[in-house]
Amino acid sequence: MQYFQPSLSPNMINLRLHRPSWRFIDTVPKTWYVQNKQDPKVCDPMSRFKADLPASVDLSSDGFAFIFNRGRLLVKILNNAISIPNTTDIANCGLTLIRKQHIGSLDGRPCTAAESDPGDIPATGYQFRELRSLFTHLEEDLIWVAGRANQLVDWQRTHQYCGACGHPTEDKLDERAIICPKCGLINYPRLSPAVIVAVLKDDKILLARNKRFQIPIYSVLAGFVEPSETLEQCVQREVKEEVGVEVKNIRYFGSQPWPFPNSLMIAFTAEYAGGEISLNPSEITDAGWYSKENLPQVPPKISIAGKMIDWFCSA
Ligand SMILES: [Zn+2]
Repeated sequence: MQYFQPSLSPNMINLRLHRPSWRFIDTVPKTWYVQNKQDPKVCDPMSRFKADLPASVDLSSDGFAFIFNRGRLLVKILNNAISIPNTTDIANCGLTLIRKQHIGSLDGRPCTAAESDPGDIPATGYQFRELRSLFTHLEEDLIWVAGRANQLVDWQRTHQYCGACGHPTEDKLDERAIICPKCGLINYPRLSPAVIVAVLKDDKILLARNKRFQIPIYSVLAGFVEPSETLEQCVQREVKEEVGVEVKNIRYFGSQPWPFPNSLMIAFTAEYAGGEISLNPSEITDAGWYSKENLPQVPPKISIAGKMIDWFCSA
């Protein structure tokens, strides 16, 4: 990690001159920001994964099989341990696979994604589980490969017909895309960019409870990017719309795929610039400024929201 400051104070310049490799772990002021380009947990969650070009599916090899049924992922349960089935396990699961696709390789092992027939019931020892419920049961790289599989399965399912002329589509063989053989329209996997922002004021962070949260959890603010909008403009608009606060000094923090079903979270820090908290009742049920000693329940650290709040607490 590298830390930097929007405007260096003379004191900090001196510190840098005398200790150029110093890391501001315990004493970093809240006006300093973290740049996570070197943190693999934030920017490279799938360092063991290689996103190969589309290829034919090989279910005879010892690869991973990411099989979804109505958005839930097939897992193997053995002695209370949860794992991703091997492709060789699939023959024993009693499932009818639809739209199989090769999505890449993890540690050199091919990864296959597919849907199973909605009426399928897996064999004993296998279950379909919500992907989010597996966050604490699977290693992080597997979670993110499963997320990629979920995005690509959802994309294939929703692009079986051309959006322009209605003709059945086909896989494009030289890149990951779907093409209409009649009119030539090409569709790439859909991504929906969204910003997420940690707003800081003195030694406090702005946390809010979204109306959609089913449990009393508080998080940093987030929202989807509008057409023609820059990411920085989106940060300012979302914060203003959701809690009525203005921000400045917006700085990049990191990014994370959020495959539910196709978001890309781009995270920023920002400084409070003015205004009183005023909730948008259509989105937010509560919001406030929290010190690290007085945090409410927050998201798990596997999410970039959790990583930002963890960074705030460790600074
Ligand atoms: Zn078409």
